Amino acid sequence: MRWPLPNGRCLVVTAFYLLPTPPRCTVLLNRSFKTWLLALPALLLLLSASLPPACSTNAPKAERPASAKPAAAQTTPPDSSLRGYFLFPIKPGKPNLLAASMGELRPNHFHGGLDIKTDGGVDRPVYASAEGYISRIKQSSFGYGNVLYITHPNGLTTVYAHLNHFKGPVAAELLKRQYEKQTYELELFFQPGQFPVTKGEIVALSGNTGGSAGPHLHWEVRDAKDNQLNPLRWGGFAEIQDHVPPTAVMVAVEPLSIDGRVQGRFEKRLFTPTGTPATGFTVADTIPASGTVGLLLQAFDRFDNAWNKNGLQRIDITVNGKPLFSHVIDGIGFPAESRQVNHHVDYEYMMSGGRTMEKLWVDEGNTLPIYRTGPSKGKLRVEPGQVYTVEMRLADSYGNTTPLRMVLRGVTADYWQTRSAAVARPTLRYDVLRNILRVTVDDTAKQAPNLTLLRDTRQLQLKPSYTDQSRSIYLYDLRAGLPDSLRFPGLKKAQRFDRQVAIPAGIEQLFANQFMSLTFSPRTVFDTLYLQTAYKDGLWTIQNARTPIQEALRVTLKPPVPVVDKARSAVYMVRGNAKIWQGNKWEGETISFATRIFGQYRILTDTIPPSARLISKGANGLVFKVGDNLSGLASYALTVNGQWRRLRFEHKNSTLFTERQDTLGPALRGPATLRITDQAGNEKVLQFTL
Ligand SMILES: [Zn+2]
Repeated sequence: MRWPLPNGRCLVVTAFYLLPTPPRCTVLLNRSFKTWLLALPALLLLLSASLPPACSTNAPKAERPASAKPAAAQTTPPDSSLRGYFLFPIKPGKPNLLAASMGELRPNHFHGGLDIKTDGGVDRPVYASAEGYISRIKQSSFGYGNVLYITHPNGLTTVYAHLNHFKGPVAAELLKRQYEKQTYELELFFQPGQFPVTKGEIVALSGNTGGSAGPHLHWEVRDAKDNQLNPLRWGGFAEIQDHVPPTAVMVAVEPLSIDGRVQGRFEKRLFTPTGTPATGFTVADTIPASGTVGLLLQAFDRFDNAWNKNGLQRIDITVNGKPLFSHVIDGIGFPAESRQVNHHVDYEYMMSGGRTMEKLWVDEGNTLPIYRTGPSKGKLRVEPGQVYTVEMRLADSYGNTTPLRMVLRGVTADYWQTRSAAVARPTLRYDVLRNILRVTVDDTAKQAPNLTLLRDTRQLQLKPSYTDQSRSIYLYDLRAGLPDSLRFPGLKKAQRFDRQVAIPAGIEQLFANQFMSLTFSPRTVFDTLYLQTAYKDGLWTIQNARTPIQEALRVTLKPPVPVVDKARSAVYMVRGNAKIWQGNKWEGETISFATRIFGQYRILTDTIPPSARLISKGANGLVFKVGDNLSGLASYALTVNGQWRRLRFEHKNSTLFTERQDTLGPALRGPATLRITDQAGNEKVLQFTL
């Protein structure tokens, strides 16, 4: 198989496994030096002259957003009969503010609904958005916290999360069942007719429970298939005003093919657009590119009177007037589709400390239904001599749009750039971008030598793909086979290539060696993974945290030295100083767990019981401060006069506390015992008299 390279160079890849010495590429190298920079100012002038008037869709300031334009066409058009169907669940009829919109790009999920501000406090009345019945409630210290679901006659369900308290008969039912099961963390499902609600009925008080960083109501609308719908898709709410178009923060262009170059390089290049939401945004530079490239964007939207940076709902891109790509984030399947946000954004870049940027093409393995593209899937093939005027329209749910313009110019990829003063000593490093191995060498030679890829006794000579100052960059498509090591003239030792095997997406794969075995489901990785594992001194490394996992990876670790206290030993993910419990399923001398984060793992033994102390007792009940050194809290139980009393757990401040709303529990008087255990089975017993 021949991989065509720019400038007529070639790379013979089938030779890799067949021939001890690969045939030399005979085509001469093109050393001409391109002067694309000269063309820049003229193009720029043309560009700014043809900018359309900004913000042409600004809706007039109106009392009701009925006059605001609805979000443009959806993948499934919203049912217009639902306009006005839902009552706003906080302070209906009064101005409200949002801290987050639906579809915002969060770690591991698209934000599933609206975060409605509650004036910085808790216990604000939460109103049922429409008639229906309470179909589900859950009380928990994690995730959605205390959450209530109302199913409506039209099949839609509204979700009210991070609540402080439930109200009415359902709260009494929950308490009763908690006492029956002697647990605080409980989830209940109900049938129609058990707990009917009317539109506008107060069903709960708002809070800050679960994975919430401040008091607010998280409110979702879901369809019968658990798709999280944008609650603003039916014309918005009078309570929420939005006349502010989105703001572009950064754009990027990234090569997607081995012959792809942006500004001469095989790397993502960032460009700061200038402008304002009112005038639109422009990237001032004309960007020279070649091969297949993709666009990336960082942007945000604001609602009126709020400073929170929210997500966009829609992006449309045309190139030279022809549609290239669009996406509308108006409905996301929960939870599987939502997790694909890790593939919608450039995860590796984000996790390397970079920005959160959306990829504006449909990447390999991305099955989200939010995109509309042609056969190119939003990738742009750039031909030499052609000019590509890219126009993006960034839109929010209220139809406010912001144009963003940038121009790419197709150039012939330069092979030679200037060679600057030689460095003292050659150094070699490499990384893997999609299927491409990129080797970067700082070398001392006046003319960049070949890099040799070795596998067993076979070798492949690689010419530099391009040079950049004293640096030479070699590109190789790993689909042609993985090398064992890399050798470069002037470097004493061959450098080992640490990727062991390609794990394609879409099929189940097993990887095993003497230290571990890994089971990849067809959906564990989004795209082909070039697996890297290591074991040293009790530390297992599986890839790195910059690679996203979609569906859990099953891991079995095989400790070379038997672990003595298995009952209290578990696998922990090690991240800086943090040690996060993963699992403790022992089978003989091996231990298994499932993870959705690659990284480094250790087997650690927790022999220290958790801590607990009573920090307050009085009219408001009891408050305990609890903690654990390693494995974390597993269970807790308070008995007063031998009777179980409900405790509420708040992980954010490590407290357990009784509540006044608890009318079923024993009076807080007499001998009492608090028992808490950690996940290693260590127990702490606190005895006291009230
Ligand atoms: Zn939320």
